[in-house]
Amino acid sequence: MSFSLHGLAVSHGIAIGRAHLVSHATLEVAHYTIRERDVALEVARFDVALNTVQTELATLHDEASGPGAPAELAAFVGIHAMILADPLLSEAPRQLMRERRCNAEWALVQQMEQLVGHFDEIDDAYLRERRQDIVQVVERVLKVLTGRPRKLGRRGKGTDKDDSELIIVAHDLSPADTIQFKTLKIGGFVTDLGGATSHTAIVARSLAIPAVVGLHHARSLVRDNDLLIIDGTRGVLIVEPDLRVLEEYRLRKSELELERAKLKRLKSAKATTLDGEDISLQANIELPQDIGQVKDVDAAGIGLFRTEYLFMNRDELPTEDEQFESYRSVAKAMAGKPVTIRTLDVGADKQARALRSISGAERQEPNPALGLRAIRYCLAEPQLFMTQLRALLRASHHGRVRILVPMLAHVAEIEQTLALIEQAKGQLREARVKFDEGIEVGGMIEIPAAALVLGPFLKRLRFLSIGTNDLIQYTLAIDRTDEAVSHLYDPLHPAVLRLIAQTIQAGARAEVPVAICGEMAGDPALTHLLIGMGLRQFSMHPSQILEVKQQVVMADAEQLGLKVARLLRCDEPDKIREQMERL
Ligand code: PEP
Ligand code: MG
Repeated sequence: MSFSLHGLAVSHGIAIGRAHLVSHATLEVAHYTIRERDVALEVARFDVALNTVQTELATLHDEASGPGAPAELAAFVGIHAMILADPLLSEAPRQLMRERRCNAEWALVQQMEQLVGHFDEIDDAYLRERRQDIVQVVERVLKVLTGRPRKLGRRGKGTDKDDSELIIVAHDLSPADTIQFKTLKIGGFVTDLGGATSHTAIVARSLAIPAVVGLHHARSLVRDNDLLIIDGTRGVLIVEPDLRVLEEYRLRKSELELERAKLKRLKSAKATTLDGEDISLQANIELPQDIGQVKDVDAAGIGLFRTEYLFMNRDELPTEDEQFESYRSVAKAMAGKPVTIRTLDVGADKQARALRSISGAERQEPNPALGLRAIRYCLAEPQLFMTQLRALLRASHHGRVRILVPMLAHVAEIEQTLALIEQAKGQLREARVKFDEGIEVGGMIEIPAAALVLGPFLKRLRFLSIGTNDLIQYTLAIDRTDEAVSHLYDPLHPAVLRLIAQTIQAGARAEVPVAICGEMAGDPALTHLLIGMGLRQFSMHPSQILEVKQQVVMADAEQLGLKVARLLRCDEPDKIREQMERL
């Protein structure tokens, strides 16, 4: 049966492919209705799975009883076999399948939840542990029922046609999960949770794969291997589309590919407005391997290297040498073009396993977006910070490296950071290690307090970069990862526009360059607005650069300046949108 779900469009394009369900909790299963005449078949499928696991456990028991095997293992396997044989686990799900015409996986999990619910109330620790045994046995049966997870192919090696792209369906994905898609051949992904500027969504855009988040029930309604269409532009997921819809989307997909191919002609064009203003279009990257994409569009530099991704999906922290190699490789590849490397911005939705060993990271934060993240975390962990600073400074000998500091709000934070940079320089001088003595240090403007009181920032820093993702989050008090309030996350809110415009204008007066590296910079619908505000440096995912360049070459900066000055005087959202149409 075909149906569609609506969520938030976070990464444009169309993907057509087969569903691959992923979950952090193995026991999250789909629920679907079985036709009356197929119920007996579903029960038989369940029985086959029980028998398979019974055989598995018997084999395991034989092996565990042999010489050399730890004594507890046989006992433990024996308990699992007993649990499996108990009618409480086999008969009740059969009954549920017959009564409710539901699938076997769902019936089994329902019964399991009933059983383990009682265990939670037991005081005895030994008995409580049996709860985990029941869960493990159920997991074994579910594995047989749902089949082994398909192996995900490496990117670039697949020969799949469009309909066999792999589409990830998850309840939620962390940025650390998503960054792994860079090396996998994934057609797109959809999640139940998430906001449009969550880091998961940002990574999707950097991968240039279609994605829809905030779908609420996709993970429970979609089944493994269902045929899916992701419309990443409209925020729609179509499950098991009929042939007519499928043909329509295939056509749209090839049209989009054609448009993308045409855009490539702009690669060598200068990013200059009609009235001769040069606009610098730089790239945001997460990992050194993104440089290939940066070169493909001939970006003017790296405006934001989010170094926290080097710390994810690993148990150990990257060493100074390892970090140095990553930064140096990017600096060298950019051959003299600016490479703006941001110091570690962990915390909130960006968590890194390797940091758990450090104090503070394990703490349950009451409000992570307002907690110990980014520069606050680095200043609380000076050893970790100094390692990164030395690696950055060493890399500055190999290209035009600039240091960008995230989440600054207080003058004291700037001063402490600059002092630590001086200290790192001193250590390198002492060790006779070369670095760029004149390395520029800049700050992110992403907390309203910084945008409102810019003087101290302009005095102490050599450049500024506006992080609109967080600036919007903190100005409007909207958690950028929470789909429940995503409709209120509005880049065109007059308060947001004024903070951005003020920052750009104050930078121009003080002759301190100001860039934007938040998601607003990569949205072609906002290019004219930002040029009209006086912005001359944009940084975005490489996949967005040519589309934005197309807008730049059609812009008249002077005319836009006049129109935007008028727009900025509006307080009414409707008027702002009306004036946006005229830009
Ligand atoms: C921002 O906040 O706009 C930004 C660029 O930083 P991040 O998205 O990594 O928080
Ligand atoms: Mg930010």
